[in-house]
Amino acid sequence: MKITDVTLTLFAWDSIPATTYGSHTGQFGGSSQLGLLRLITDQGLEGHAFLGSAMNPATTDGQGLITHLKPVLLGRDPLDRERLNQDIWRRQRAAGVRPIGAVDVALWDLAGKAIGQPIHRLLGTYRESIPAYASSAVLAAPEAYAEEAVRHRDAGWAAYKIHPPTRWREDIKVCEAVRKAVGDDYTVMLDSTWSYDFPAAVRVGLVAQDLGFHWYEDPLADQDIYNYVKLKQKLSIPILATEYPIAGYESYAPWIMLQATDFLRGDVAVKGGITTLVKAAHLAEAFRMNFEVHHGGNSLNNVANLHVIAAIRNTEFFEVLLPDGAQKYGLQQDIVIGRDGLVHVPNGPGLGAAIDFDLIKRKTVTVLS
Ligand SMILES: [Mg+2]
Repeated sequence: MKITDVTLTLFAWDSIPATTYGSHTGQFGGSSQLGLLRLITDQGLEGHAFLGSAMNPATTDGQGLITHLKPVLLGRDPLDRERLNQDIWRRQRAAGVRPIGAVDVALWDLAGKAIGQPIHRLLGTYRESIPAYASSAVLAAPEAYAEEAVRHRDAGWAAYKIHPPTRWREDIKVCEAVRKAVGDDYTVMLDSTWSYDFPAAVRVGLVAQDLGFHWYEDPLADQDIYNYVKLKQKLSIPILATEYPIAGYESYAPWIMLQATDFLRGDVAVKGGITTLVKAAHLAEAFRMNFEVHHGGNSLNNVANLHVIAAIRNTEFFEVLLPDGAQKYGLQQDIVIGRDGLVHVPNGPGLGAAIDFDLIKRKTVTVLS
């Protein structure tokens, strides 16, 4: 089998609700564009992935994918996946990491279709379902977080994660309001999105620890390993770092060597696809560390994340970032959370997700090729 063409169909995503997750996203909403990546082969099979998100249109990275990665892929056997992965990483300086992630996801999708199995079976299945947690946007007041947390708890979700306003005094009030509302036995996490200096990170962390929160995510700047080491020595609540920077497999090494975080983290979009995630999760496993998968920014990336989760032991949850209108688009049937709080991995060949090709056709803006 040979790759004969690589195209990226840019399609409009409209009516995105006004949303913010913190200063790293600002306020976004309105319109964006996703890209449908198609790896076309001489056997009639295609591999697919989505590029982009509600806050970061695929126009940002799309041309880089076509200019810098397409020439590496043309004429190659898509089942030489590890070799192709090594080759596309060599183009990272020009292409960026998100296009590498999209190509890697599409190569796995193609392999699954060629062999007639879901990606998690190719990787080696560990589980077919996992508890989901609701992950908030930044909300207007502590009461809004408390209400949202209770609503998801009552609907059967396994846990609730706070993205706070990122002003430490207010953040503490949000944490206290949520714990009071959901009671002592419900699982709650705090994701402070790289917002504090060291003293504020200690203050908020001690509160989250006293409230019995499950983990404390990204309190300090994403490459401030020096202060993460200090923070971890001061707190007993597990620290979860490494969601960013946008980087590949080797970026995890110093975090482990310096004992700067309790768990590792990543997603297919910003770490280079399924291949990097599985390698990183296995690396973490050698140190008895969990690898908690970050949401993927678009519907098909979340399906790809779910295949990784289904094929690794050392992970606890599937993240569902709220609201749906800023995260779910382009599939006929998106991932759903059951009354039991679980998500189930698709079992069709490849990604196993039903892409809404009619919608994409109606909303096509242009095709990069
Ligand atoms: Mg996070």
